[in-house]
Order: sequence, then C-alpha cells, then structure tokens
Amino acid sequence: MKDQDHELPQDRYYDLSHAEADEVLNDLAYYRTLMVNVGFIGEAGSKDWVLVDCGINHYARRIIEAGEKRFGPAPPKAIIITHGHFDHIGSAKKLAQHYDVPIYAHPKEMDYLTGKRSYPVGNSTVGGGLISILSPFFPTDPVNLKKWVHPLPDDGTIPFLEEWRTIHTPGHTPGHIALFRDRDRTLIAGDAFITVKQESSMAVFIQHQHVHGPPAYFTPDWQEAERSVKKLAALNPVTALTGHGLPMDGENLQQQLSHLAFNFKDLAIPNHDKKIH
Ligand SMILES: [Zn+2]
Ligand SMILES: [Zn+2]
Repeated sequence: MKDQDHELPQDRYYDLSHAEADEVLNDLAYYRTLMVNVGFIGEAGSKDWVLVDCGINHYARRIIEAGEKRFGPAPPKAIIITHGHFDHIGSAKKLAQHYDVPIYAHPKEMDYLTGKRSYPVGNSTVGGGLISILSPFFPTDPVNLKKWVHPLPDDGTIPFLEEWRTIHTPGHTPGHIALFRDRDRTLIAGDAFITVKQESSMAVFIQHQHVHGPPAYFTPDWQEAERSVKKLAALNPVTALTGHGLPMDGENLQQQLSHLAFNFKDLAIPNHDKKIH
C-alpha cells in the first residue's frame, strides 16, 4: 500500500512501539489506537478473521500492521462497527480501501456512516480529558463509507461470525451495538460501558480497570444508555473488551458491571444531565 497515512506528531509521541495486538482470549485480541480499542476476532494464524471498529484517524497503517502480525497478509472477512463516532471509524475509509471488504453497522447507524447525518454536539462542560486529547483527531469532513457499509441483519446474526450475535445498545448513539458470544459469554461492548474514566485525562493513560458508564460528552440519551447497560449486565459476561480501557474478566467485571447497572444514575449520568433527565 502506498502510505498516505501521514503521522501527526501526537501519533509518534504516544505510541513509540510497533503495532501489535494484545490477546484477550485465544481468538480475541485488541489494539489500542491512542486511547480507542479495535478488536480482532479470530485465532492467530487464521484466515477467518473479522475487525471490530477502526480506531481514530491516522492509525490505518498500524491497524493493518497489527492485523498482519496476527493473521498474516489475508484481509479480514469484514469490518463490524459498534457505532460511528469519529474515534471508532477514524481510519475506516483507509482500511476499507486497503482491505476492500464489507463494513457492517446497525441499520440505525447507517445515516451517520453515509454522510446523511451528524451526531449531536455534546455538552462540552462534561468533556475534559477525552475532548482535549482527541481534538487533533477530530474529523474535518463528514464521514461517508457508502461504498462499503451495509446494514447488519435484523435477527442479530453477524455475517462471517457464526458464534456471535449483536445486542442493540442505544443511548450512546441510536444504532450502537455490542457483540456477544453465548458459548463463553464474551462481550465486545463498544462504548455502552467502558473500563476507564474517559473524562479524566490521567486515567486514560494510567489505565486502571474499572467499569464506567459511556463517555459522557458523547452520550445524548441517558435513559436508553441505562437500559442498555442493564441489558448487558443481565448477560453476565465473563470477558469484556470495551471501546476504551483495558479488557476485564471474571468476578471483578461481573460485580462492577451490575453495580453500574443498579446505580447508573449516580455513577454514570453527569450532574448537569441528571437535572434535565
Ligand atoms: Zn462513542
Ligand atoms: Zn469511543
């Protein structure tokens, strides 16, 4: 591939090592693009693999490198998008051009991925860490992945991922999805909940494992977001990979996730939004 994926100075500053995915399970790995995770579903060396989310802008080359290191030169069968926020689809266009594979998203997310609609502007007073860190990566053009993006089937199945199903988890965005595998109760949660306090820039880099609600600045519908967290907690996941933060598993995950589900208003909803809630 001709490398048009020029690096920002920030890119170099925060990520000095070569791109390599970290393994969560033998068939699930992730790679962190600055502070947003992309998921790799498939065993190392397999030609049957799927990419989940596309990270922030300027990371296509690294994501391709991490994929090649894990799977060899074969492209993924597809790319699944949990939701269309810029920090999850920033490198989508370059990845789609490189791999030339279909991208799948929830039908309610399609308008945001085909240039028809933009997400509402959030309440910047609850922004802080995330906003300031990501500001160099904010997109300047509306996203249009029309050439590659297809709506996911309504019945919860996912093309090329036989064992997995989608869980519609709106609130953070209208068409937000999580991916779930019943066999071992593995969850890819997107931003429905995350494991780092996204509003604190320190926590983003120290990366404590702790379950938190969705990133506050970007979440317009807290009622739906609460229902979605309750839905995911009810699945009692054993392992979870989230859009931000480190993966979590076992009792630690289950206790903290149910704690968040039952105390969502206190723990997740910013004070300003509680009043208008
Ligand atoms: Zn998001
Ligand atoms: Zn995010």
